[in-house]
Amino acid sequence: MGYTSGQQMNRNLKDTYHKLGELLVRRNLAPSEAIDEALAVQRLHIGQKRTPQRLGEILIERKVLSRRLVQEILQEQQVGRGEKRILKIGLRDAEGVAVVVLEGRLDETKEKPVTQIFERLMNRGFARIAVDCSRLVYLDSHGISSFMAYIDEARARGGDMKFFSLTPEAGFVVKRLGLGNFVQTFAKEDEALKAFELPIDEYMSRGALAEYVSTDSRSSRVFHLSYCNDAQRIREKDRIYYESKWHARDAGKLGCKRCKP
Ligand SMILES: [Zn+2]
Repeated sequence: MGYTSGQQMNRNLKDTYHKLGELLVRRNLAPSEAIDEALAVQRLHIGQKRTPQRLGEILIERKVLSRRLVQEILQEQQVGRGEKRILKIGLRDAEGVAVVVLEGRLDETKEKPVTQIFERLMNRGFARIAVDCSRLVYLDSHGISSFMAYIDEARARGGDMKFFSLTPEAGFVVKRLGLGNFVQTFAKEDEALKAFELPIDEYMSRGALAEYVSTDSRSSRVFHLSYCNDAQRIREKDRIYYESKWHARDAGKLGCKRCKP
């Protein structure tokens, strides 16, 4: 090992912390105290002018994590940084919904295998598709564009394509592309599956996903699009939001004649 300045070591330490420690805490794979203790060990090594032991190694030695898990995470980080361009596509059936599991990196080089999967699903008559994004470590606008034509097609056939367990980064891409008003995303799989019980039209008005609002007061038997002037006049504390038009009707409300939800 060559000479490394203290400053350089500190920078390496910080990088390591952000890349591994933060990820571990965010995913609840290790308690933050365990990370702090491991970082203290690294600082001790630096104080002794030694090359600090790697964070993963310390956590393995202390039996906080298994070697296998650390290797998986490190590999995932390489994929995330684009050093490895891996995308695994899995497929399973969940009560008549085809669940497509994307694992790895969905960038412009992976449009073809993804569109082939959707093509096959459509040909087999699957119009209800849920995309599991929990193991998607990278998504860019090219990657997501491979979905778009199939969302329209699935809807035209009375189904939909919904997404669940997006990482914050993938969620950001979806928002930045303005898809938040067009594509339903859910935190968890069971929420996504449940949403298939209603046709997508129950969630949409004028081509966009919408919020439906009414008031608790018995004087109003009407529900609105959240941006309707009449809805704006309902005091915040009196507002009731409905997941869909169906939910509003089920609660005994009728669509407003002005905003026509
Ligand atoms: Zn209205």
